[in-house]
Amino acid sequence: MDKGAVGERLTSDEALALVQDLTPETLHELGAAALHNRRWRYGLKATYVFNQHINPSNICTMGCAFCNYAALPDAPKAFTLSEDTIIRSVASLAPTEVHIVGGINDLWPFDRNLKLVKTLRRSFPELFIKAFTAVEVAAFARDSGKTVDDILVALAAAGVNAMPGGGAEIFTERLRRKYWPQKLSAHDWWHVHSRAHAMGIPTNATMLFGIGERWDERVAHMLTLRRWQDRSGGFECFIPLPFQPGKGEIAADGPSTAEILAVLALARLLLDNIPHIKAYWPMAGLETAAAGLSWGADDLDGTIKEEKVAHMAGARTPVGLAREKMEETIAMGGFEAVERDGWFQAKGKMHAARML
Ligand code: SF4
Repeated sequence: MDKGAVGERLTSDEALALVQDLTPETLHELGAAALHNRRWRYGLKATYVFNQHINPSNICTMGCAFCNYAALPDAPKAFTLSEDTIIRSVASLAPTEVHIVGGINDLWPFDRNLKLVKTLRRSFPELFIKAFTAVEVAAFARDSGKTVDDILVALAAAGVNAMPGGGAEIFTERLRRKYWPQKLSAHDWWHVHSRAHAMGIPTNATMLFGIGERWDERVAHMLTLRRWQDRSGGFECFIPLPFQPGKGEIAADGPSTAEILAVLALARLLLDNIPHIKAYWPMAGLETAAAGLSWGADDLDGTIKEEKVAHMAGARTPVGLAREKMEETIAMGGFEAVERDGWFQAKGKMHAARML
């Protein structure tokens, strides 16, 4: 525990020893170590971004069993936005950052998505564009007959600044074969991210948890990311995503609050080479996310405006928050709110360009 608290590298066995058979006492010690580590890195500062999620369509043919967001084309809940709607919405909100993810479908193929990015860049030159998961990038390559490199080069040239971390789920073939067999393997997910990193495009990394995985699988997922980060240095932020129970085909209840906090703490202790740990409030809940700042997280994501992926899956949090509410939530956790940009810099600060 002490090693992790001061940022020294933990082994797999040491990590597992921290979380197996958690008792109130060991949970408390885990949280205290993570808090020490995050305060040593960031003091009492906690960041958020004034951002907007854009989901051009929820039509998706992948059929992941845990997903309540996706719909087949003729399903009542299927939706597709037009470019006009998206541009008008961004113009009216004027966010610092947009986060664009959709489904795998023929309605929003690569060329149309590329054109959307170009239009956003032309219309909003200062906007930070975080767009398309590794799953989408791989599908763009497959469907357009291009390579992953071709797709990433075109997206970066059009104006994409960074990639989200979704689609990783949890790196265990045991659950992938059962619940998302048609989706990228861990190796293929990493291939897309490693190519992005090689081109100077930073990315996030996620881990879906609370769907029946074991602690050793969570530890293995984080250590795999740590190993990859040693090679590329391109992961900016790690985001554990609590499974949203309710409407899907998976009977799991989702993680308890204690588990959500323990996963955040373990991530802060294990991922010594990934700068930021995010408590993602739409899935964790506002109170738990605020508490997560004392359990290793240093970022709460953002205002989001109209989150659909978690909310169509049954999340009961608001679909968006005002700046004031983000700052109030961070203060509720006992931290000092700092509005940041997409590069994780305090808003207004200069940052080194990382584009191609
Ligand atoms: S998780 Fe993503 S890829 Fe899987 S069905 Fe849902 S939208 Fe499609």
